Amino acid sequence: MPVSERLYHADSFLQSFPAAVADVRELSRTEGESAWQIALDRTSFYPTSGGQPYDTGVLRAVSSGGASIEIPVESVEEDEHGQVWHFVRKPLAVGARVEGHIDWPRRFDHMQQHTGQHLLSAVFLRELNAPTVSFHLGDILSTIDLAGGPFAHHSIERVERLCNEIIAEDRGVCMRKVPRAEAESMLAAGELRKLPERSGDIRLIEIDGIDHNACGGTHLHSTGQIGVLLLRGTEKVSRGVRVEFVCGLRAVRTARSDATILSQITAALSAPAADIPAVVERLRAESKTAAKERKRLHEELADYHAARLAVEVPIERNLRIVDRAWKDRDPEYIRVLASRLTKAAPSTILLFSSESGDTAFVILARSLDFNFDCGQIMKDTLAQIGLRGGGSADFAQGEVPVPQLSPLRTSVLAALRSAIAINR
Ligand SMILES: [Zn+2]
Repeated sequence: MPVSERLYHADSFLQSFPAAVADVRELSRTEGESAWQIALDRTSFYPTSGGQPYDTGVLRAVSSGGASIEIPVESVEEDEHGQVWHFVRKPLAVGARVEGHIDWPRRFDHMQQHTGQHLLSAVFLRELNAPTVSFHLGDILSTIDLAGGPFAHHSIERVERLCNEIIAEDRGVCMRKVPRAEAESMLAAGELRKLPERSGDIRLIEIDGIDHNACGGTHLHSTGQIGVLLLRGTEKVSRGVRVEFVCGLRAVRTARSDATILSQITAALSAPAADIPAVVERLRAESKTAAKERKRLHEELADYHAARLAVEVPIERNLRIVDRAWKDRDPEYIRVLASRLTKAAPSTILLFSSESGDTAFVILARSLDFNFDCGQIMKDTLAQIGLRGGGSADFAQGEVPVPQLSPLRTSVLAALRSAIAINR
């Protein structure tokens, strides 16, 4: 069976086209719904390849009863023989006449990102001698991976500025087919960077005066149609540097979203945008100092608090059990308090808890003049309700859902009393 004629090769701006169904196959059937693949004798739908995603759209046809039907094309893939398959939910008969309509905003966006990538790769190569290793067109951002780097921030900014100057110059982008031998001599002369392995004529995409590239994707007619190119972030990857970029209307949407976020930040910090880095730096330093001070105050307070608890709960028959339940106390403070109390007060066992939202934090600890194992008691009582936790012989902790706090406390206290009875 002959493969579909790819209409987008000759005219990437073709939005609708007549065709005939050349082949139909059932792909899968789940819960009574079938997925089908349709091949057409000619198509303008682009199948995923070379980093550019597939087109979507519809196939319009007339049913045997004379009604007009519209079948959404959900994705498009090419197979190893070069046949283009349109993924649909309804079959059509072989030979049926259809009219294909591609989702134009989606395709135009892809062409803006893809043509922008040709330009960006060419400028990175020319300015920083960094060849592009791979390209990915994502739903939100696109990326190229460059060999080499890292690149200074001002170099990245220069590449972005040069790309936008070339966009403003509105240079032509044209396609021509050359015999493979000619493409190979261009490769040898350094005018091309790489060639696809397949035989036959090669499609060359030329950005006037800037770049030649062998490519089977869809492209704009001139750099001006890219609109604008915005570089976002760079990150180190195993082979070099990954550069995030957006082009065209997508770049405007991204910049709009960034500007909205920035204005929320300037309002929250009551500072102009240019001052934000310094303000954030100051806030970070203040927060670090405050955290240190809070830790010091916690420790000081815990000493007083421990002394008060020791007075509130006197030793009776050689034993002091301090049982306290709080709400919304900082777990870190409770840990410090538990540690200070068991160090400062002899014959002391404590059971502390604090609820925060749906969970409660529990500590069981003892002074060193006892020898039973707090970690084991905590582990065993938590295990009874299917939870995990534990700790050392003199200090154990765990977390429980709030409704299970009261039963857990009862079990821990019961286990404690029998541990004390055995150990005396
Ligand atoms: Zn291309």
